[in-house]
Amino acid sequence: MIIVMQVGASPEEIQAVADAIREQGLEPLVLPGEDRVAIGIPAAVQPDQRDHLESVLANLTGINKITVTSRPYKLASLEYHRDRTVVELPNTKVGPETFTIFGGPCSIEGYDEFREAALVVKQAGAQVLRGGAFKPRTSPYSFQGLAEEGLRIMQSVGKELGLATITEVMSADKVGVVAEHVDILQIGARSMQNFPLLIEAGKSGKPVFLKRGPSASVDEFLLAAEYVLNQGNPNVILCERGVMPIDKSYTRNTLDLSVVPVLKDYSHLPVVVDPSHGTGVAKYVAPMAKAAVMVGADGLMIEMHPSPKHALSDGSQALTSDQFSALMGDLKKLTPLVGRTW
Ligand code: PEP
Ligand code: MN
Repeated sequence: MIIVMQVGASPEEIQAVADAIREQGLEPLVLPGEDRVAIGIPAAVQPDQRDHLESVLANLTGINKITVTSRPYKLASLEYHRDRTVVELPNTKVGPETFTIFGGPCSIEGYDEFREAALVVKQAGAQVLRGGAFKPRTSPYSFQGLAEEGLRIMQSVGKELGLATITEVMSADKVGVVAEHVDILQIGARSMQNFPLLIEAGKSGKPVFLKRGPSASVDEFLLAAEYVLNQGNPNVILCERGVMPIDKSYTRNTLDLSVVPVLKDYSHLPVVVDPSHGTGVAKYVAPMAKAAVMVGADGLMIEMHPSPKHALSDGSQALTSDQFSALMGDLKKLTPLVGRTW
């Protein structure tokens, strides 16, 4: 918060503002300017301190302008919620100290194909099984997913193998049926600002895995999370999956790894990185996955397929079973270096 005094504000008026800040247990920083004084508060101001201070300052004279430098989201902010959120899942958790892998094919293509992929995911040590039943495809002529049948397949395979499950829900009216079949609701990048969907997912009480929109700012991303939290659902996992690239001829998106430490600075919510959609190219997935560990991600979402060239969606970014298992082995060696074991 910065309080800009009027030109010619008296020393008593400046003193009264500084005193009001001190009364909140904060230290004012008086910044003399050419024609006016500004008073800053360098320390983090808690929301209740700010509310109180704003009402005290409203009754003082000599103030020209008050700038609140704090962010527009509240429930998602670290300022408001000092403990980092740990999202509990049936067989694992997502948060600091541990590392969570969400692995599986882009789409659920059939029972046998999905079970084969899930066995690899399980054996490689991943904790959450992914796969789309409702697919957001750019073209209406592309494979759209197996819908409810896909949900039943996911539920049965997840149960058999003891893996937590995640799938995308694309519309508010499907939240109920998706929540009945899987453990985590994925809200895809294209739906990040589908507000009725966010609200319905919030109401479901299920953990929500929220993907960042390809052109969403950090504030927009965290405000989308705020919609879910605001429904009394504290279990939100943020996912960086790449933003609009400058040059689409090399990668599908640009994986914004710098947003991971930024999100950690401003929010208490866990952050997962998806290098599969983030690059769109299978051979770039492993290097970016390893980089994500080093910048502080709490987990990774990785697409794999037992036969990528036959995949019905996103085959070019899918790791083969061997590549997936090899990457898991490398990650197991890397994560203890940043204090995470799984
Ligand atoms: C997906 O996870 O398969 C997907 C469609 O992701 P995104 O929303 O990031 O494009
Ligand atoms: Mn995909």
